[in-house]
Amino acid sequence: MQTCPYCKEKIYSNALVCRYCKRDLPAMNAVQPHAASWVPALLATAVIFTGAAVLAYEFFKERRNWVDRG
Ligand SMILES: [Zn+2]
Repeated sequence: MQTCPYCKEKIYSNALVCRYCKRDLPAMNAVQPHAASWVPALLATAVIFTGAAVLAYEFFKERRNWVDRG
């Protein structure tokens, strides 16, 4: 529980709107914007897959050189 900054009534800490004065409570909203949670994960996944693809490409390129020398 927490106190509404406008009417000073007790409200739930995850409330988006005060149930007493009906005001929006954006600053007290603990929920992150959902875009912020998946964008870094997507970027990290893209970086990992790109790195893996580059490593695999370099590995097979070197491997072909070994085969040619052998
Ligand atoms: Zn209020």
